[in-house]
Amino acid sequence: MRIAMISEHASPLAILGGEDAGGQNTHVAELSAALAAAGHDVRVYTRRDALDLPVTVRAPDGYDVVHVPAGPAEPVAKDALLPHMREFSRWLVERWRGGDWTPEVIHAHFWMSGLAALTAGRQTGVPVVQTYHALGTVKRRYQGVQDTSPARRISYERELGRSVDRVVAQCRDEVGELVRMGVPRSRMTVVPSGVNLASFAPLGPVADREPGRARILTVGRLVERKGFQTVVRAMALVPDAECVVVGGPPEGLLETDPYARRLRALAESCGVADRVHLVGAVPREEMGRWYRSADLLVAAPWYEPFGLTPLEAMACGVPVVGTAVGGIRDTVVDGTTGDLVPARDPQALATAIQRLLDDRIRRFRYATAARERARSRYSWAVAAERLAEVYGEVAAVRRPTRVVA
Ligand code: UDP
Repeated sequence: MRIAMISEHASPLAILGGEDAGGQNTHVAELSAALAAAGHDVRVYTRRDALDLPVTVRAPDGYDVVHVPAGPAEPVAKDALLPHMREFSRWLVERWRGGDWTPEVIHAHFWMSGLAALTAGRQTGVPVVQTYHALGTVKRRYQGVQDTSPARRISYERELGRSVDRVVAQCRDEVGELVRMGVPRSRMTVVPSGVNLASFAPLGPVADREPGRARILTVGRLVERKGFQTVVRAMALVPDAECVVVGGPPEGLLETDPYARRLRALAESCGVADRVHLVGAVPREEMGRWYRSADLLVAAPWYEPFGLTPLEAMACGVPVVGTAVGGIRDTVVDGTTGDLVPARDPQALATAIQRLLDDRIRRFRYATAARERARSRYSWAVAAERLAEVYGEVAAVRRPTRVVA
């Protein structure tokens, strides 16, 4: 099929770890690669955020990335992108009407891509599939006044859910949220994200580590909701082990990133600064080395729409101690592939970490079950196959879409 992916702020070619570059970039890149490998013709449309970007770039994995001129050709925070979505959709319509390539299905990633997709889809008669990646209701619940999303985000998300041809949710928790928002269950299909089983495998290069000292790894964009503060506090209750934090800007972490500075100050005040190492962003292709160097991965977010990092660790055969939130409740099987603890509870986190560090046999059992679960259920090839079925269904029906305000 001819498939248009729309990912307005998250380019599959971006460097990850920064504030707005994380799981969605990985998801779009890996999914597009898997669909291309299965013989589909995939184009990813993302906003042009630098002047020197060519309109179309062929990704090494066999799909095209198209840079859409919408708004200034420079980085713009995602919460400030809404005013440029009309221009984004206009450009798509002109392109698809005038050129020799028109998609048979549009898969939108994130709500603003959904708005652009719905407008363009309506004008060109192409069906739209929506994956939210994150929901405004959840963000508002946890971040309150600190949530900088546009005011109308939640109502747009609800309207999108009722208007697109299919909503693809990533986990059971998301289905519940969407139903509570008023999106009918019958419009949804659950297709979890996958993991690249070639890059994330138990065997392969390993990052250096200090002999004789247990290593806890935690990975993500350096934003508050990822719960790194809870991890640092827990470290004070886990003597001797070191904690490596991967994520943040690629260079000048402590000079440029206020959150990194806060984490460092917290580590100092908890007396663990010598055992907590902030390494900054790591290129995607080197992530496997870091997972493999760890005794366990800690993922301690307050909330998590899906959470790729626990799955990547599992695929490397690394047990996970995670908070019982969002997609982590689907990927990590409590007591089998890892342990789940309540969010924002350093004591519970420390207890679970220490118990695993003290029990080599349990770690081995979890590691084996984790790898098997990732391998059997979460390959990108499986996700691509299930999505291709969804695309085929919506393209066959070609139900006319309703208008979003
Ligand atoms: N990641 C990376 N380098 C970093 C930090 C993160 O490649 O320095 C990748 C990580 O391997 C994962 C993604 O970014 O693929 C983060 O996805 P996740 O779903 O865990 O979090 P999100 O960013 O979507 O909140």
